[in-house]
Amino acid sequence: MPNRNLTDDELAQANIVLVDIRQRLDSLAGNDKNLLFAYRRKIVKELGYDERSKPGVRAKLKALKWGLQNRCCAHCGKEMPLKYSELDRKKAADGYTEENTELVHADCHHERQAVKGYT
Ligand SMILES: [Zn+2]
Repeated sequence: MPNRNLTDDELAQANIVLVDIRQRLDSLAGNDKNLLFAYRRKIVKELGYDERSKPGVRAKLKALKWGLQNRCCAHCGKEMPLKYSELDRKKAADGYTEENTELVHADCHHERQAVKGYT
């Protein structure tokens, strides 16, 4: 299932929020470019976690799926080292859960994403 896109009105609303966030960060940081950089980094990191979960959560899920899949790629069925595996979400909006992910080779993941038109 393709990821949902924003309508024109929703995109306009998102851009209003973005302008607000930028203004608030500029106000917090004053003329300190390093502080503005740190605030941006913090916001980007936390919003990324909202979508992708924290790295430790994903690492635990990868190890779990690796065992459940008998160390094999869910795409090609071949054996796969944990280090070179990636979690592929069935529906991106449903996040990184046991039910919503499959562990696949990095190359197989890229192949899947290309088929879905994500690359
Ligand atoms: Zn594979």
